[in-house]
Amino acid sequence: MHKQKHLIDARRQLDQFVRDGVHSYAELRNFDIGPGQHSGVSHLSKYISHRVLFEYEILETVLSQCSYASAEKFIQEIFWRIYWKGWLENRPSVWQAFKNDASLQEDEALNKAQNGRTGIACFDSWVEELRDHNYLHNHTRMWFASIWIFTLKLPWQCGARFFLQHLYDGDAASNTLSWRWVAGLHTKGKHYVAKASNIAKYTNNRFPSTQLAKTPLPLIEDTQFELEKNMPTASRPSKYKQLLVFENDLYLGDANHSYSDYEGVYVIYLETCHRSITLCPNVVNFKKSLLMDFSESLGNAKYITSRDFISIASQLDGVDVVYPFVGDCLDFINDVARTQGCALNFVVRAQDTHCWQHAKKGFFNFKKHLASMIQETTSFTA
Ligand SMILES: Cc1cc2nc3c(=O)[nH]c(=O)nc-3n(C[C@H](O)[C@H](O)[C@H](O)COP(=O)(O)OP(=O)(O)OC[C@H]3O[C@@H](n4cnc5c(N)ncnc54)[C@H](O)[C@@H]3O)c2cc1C
Repeated sequence: MHKQKHLIDARRQLDQFVRDGVHSYAELRNFDIGPGQHSGVSHLSKYISHRVLFEYEILETVLSQCSYASAEKFIQEIFWRIYWKGWLENRPSVWQAFKNDASLQEDEALNKAQNGRTGIACFDSWVEELRDHNYLHNHTRMWFASIWIFTLKLPWQCGARFFLQHLYDGDAASNTLSWRWVAGLHTKGKHYVAKASNIAKYTNNRFPSTQLAKTPLPLIEDTQFELEKNMPTASRPSKYKQLLVFENDLYLGDANHSYSDYEGVYVIYLETCHRSITLCPNVVNFKKSLLMDFSESLGNAKYITSRDFISIASQLDGVDVVYPFVGDCLDFINDVARTQGCALNFVVRAQDTHCWQHAKKGFFNFKKHLASMIQETTSFTA
């Protein structure tokens, strides 16, 4: 059997972080000391966002080697990701509104920002890092988004699209909702305003004096995004002979069924024509490599492009689909089902549905359920 190279790399990186980094995470996580030097954080997001590493298995690994108290901050950050995913599942119209947004596509100020020519030294250097490394530190993403929205006064949606284009870990939920959080749209009226002193301190004085908007107001919007009731709930048993897998969930273990029971597993690469954002070449190559790695690890799997899948979909009565979450992959497969008459049976992981039921309000409320979520989704207690 083919060994998944990315899975091996990801597990090695996780083990190393749990051994050497998790204990100092709370103390060091806010520092960004420069490209390629992110030792205070795990740098695991490119694997977590494609579910090469499964959030609940990470919790299991951490808790098997550390006390809850010593790893608390890191565990909470994993739950931020779970929270954002759940929140968007409860309000998918937020994704649709972002996707359909037509805020400037071409504009001089936007071009300057996207090419790192604003004259704001820290910002321009982060643009270069994003383009070269396809990663930014969390604190830097917050400063970046804040400068984009409040100092450069550019639409948040353009910034969110720019991130999705270049980040290896680009994710519909974490990205859209974090940008909205910075703007003051998630927690209405509470925005994140970057401060020059904070940037200087947490970059080890690499950027000692940045001129920023000082007292900007939070953004407001007319739309009220209501809770929707059709959130995916219980996993249903396998119904069909074929299974579809998309880039957002490449976790092989702990499936609600066995992948090898299927006659065929289609591992689908979503082409540009089916995405709301044109990804940069590094991100495209990374995703293709993850998908091929995954498909080669199964004897019955086939790597296939979204266009090729459309051409065979009408010959299939129906397919099981590893639930790909609110985002482009889900929009694609729902569209194919509608246009090609192919029925879908979503396989939703039980850990997700358990946690998502608590993600209807703010993170503070979600956190109240942390102990029960850990108990339900791992073999540990908090
Ligand atoms: C404007 C903005 C946009 C963002 N866009 C994305 C995105 O597209 N994809 C994405 O995965 N994350 C996004 N994040 C969240 C966070 O910045 C990254 O997950 C984190 O920086 C990844 O680096 P790491 O793996 O070294 O994180 P670590 O600090 O080591 O954290 C471990 C893991 O916890 C999760 N996590 C940590 N912080 C957050 C957070 N604030 N929100 C959600 N999950 C978190 C991630 O899965 C991360 O890999 C965004 C944050 C902001 C402020």
